[in-house]
Amino acid sequence: AHLARIAAVDEKVHAFLHVDREGALAQARAVDEKRARGEELGPLAGVPLALKDIFTTEGIPTTVGSKILENWIPPYDATVTKRLKDADVVILGKTNMDEFAMGSSTENSAFGPTGNPWDLTRIPGGSGGGSSASLAAFEAPLALGTDTGGSIRQPAAMTATVGVKPTYGGVSRYGMVAFSSSLDQGGPCARTVLDAALLHAVIAGHDPLDSTSIDQPVPDVVAAARQGDVTGLRVGVVKEFRGEGYQAGVMQRFDESVELLRELGAEVVEVSCPSFTKALAAYYLIAPSECSSNLARFDAMRYGLRVGDDGSRGAEEVTALTREAGFGDEVKRRVMLGTYALSSGYYDAYYGSAQKVRTLITRDFGKAFESVDVLISPTTPTTAFPIGERADDPMAMYLADLCTIPSNLAGNAAMSLPCGLAPEDGLPVGLQIIAPAMADDRLYRVGAAIE
Ligand code: GLN
Repeated sequence: AHLARIAAVDEKVHAFLHVDREGALAQARAVDEKRARGEELGPLAGVPLALKDIFTTEGIPTTVGSKILENWIPPYDATVTKRLKDADVVILGKTNMDEFAMGSSTENSAFGPTGNPWDLTRIPGGSGGGSSASLAAFEAPLALGTDTGGSIRQPAAMTATVGVKPTYGGVSRYGMVAFSSSLDQGGPCARTVLDAALLHAVIAGHDPLDSTSIDQPVPDVVAAARQGDVTGLRVGVVKEFRGEGYQAGVMQRFDESVELLRELGAEVVEVSCPSFTKALAAYYLIAPSECSSNLARFDAMRYGLRVGDDGSRGAEEVTALTREAGFGDEVKRRVMLGTYALSSGYYDAYYGSAQKVRTLITRDFGKAFESVDVLISPTTPTTAFPIGERADDPMAMYLADLCTIPSNLAGNAAMSLPCGLAPEDGLPVGLQIIAPAMADDRLYRVGAAIE
């Protein structure tokens, strides 16, 4: 049924870069056979899922939305892919994304934008717009995303779906193509909080193949989602996340959510996190710095595209020609910025300062969590904007992640869930819930209570 739905609507939505029809049917049949033999089935047996094209899949193309990896077929599965298969999930295909997950709209994909199912002339958010759009268009009931600065939560907000960035280190990064290694985190996307929890439980947990993976028990997110109760819980409203640039209808729906939490028995207080105003600036130094180092591996020798290799040129020239042709504008911009920020003489002024701001942000969170259990804010300052509107204005694009970036810098857990439609444009608004590191269960407890 999901393959039929994809065939009917994906020409318009363009959530998928690759639909693995045969593979999905074979996986589904294998589940049926297992069931017929009376074998024990995985926890998500037979449930279809759309996988962001950043997770490697053995034998299935993985492009990361880039021409530089067009036609590359990975020889191995990411840990997340493997865990999905072990859970008997049926992987439908790979979803569209901003190139190397750099963007907030999915317009930076080398393979064309994805439309927001709520209004196809608008962006679905980014970088994981394909995953969230596939849920909103009912092409898949579950999807996987990655969140470096908001790429799970921001598209969730713009498509009225649920998206969770787990605690950094909670989900393995092995086989997840690296953008900014100290920020990247894979996580679940779904249409309900409980669905997201069921997926979270399958993909989370220690992985010896990822050196930053946390070797501790995963919080019981499924029990928390089933509990869904906020009585006596202390909720902090982040003061810095409102004001100029925040759409009136977004704030209206947010304020209604605050009231609802009060009615449900939560104790709501205002908290201040003054360093959050510097988060965007720090992020746009740290993320490009790490990307300039991570993307050095795309040298035309090891993977994917190779341009100008006709015997007349040396390796360095082939690398340069390949990168010129294979990387898009935003990726080049970030590599240039990052290389500059890391260069000797500028390192302390840019990268060093940004790391100090990162520490201040982490301390702001630490202080806030001394007096509250969770923090809340709008997920994004505005609803989905029209395709093309911010494409030539990187600064305007970067603002879409204003509220999501602090959690990546601090490494804690955060969720976006729908909280109604903005009255002025009828488009979805997202509510963000933030919990301390390794308290991912609190997101599900609060989310399920107000869903
Ligand atoms: N929009 C942010 C960026 O462009 C975040 C992207 C992400 O989370 N992958 O870097």
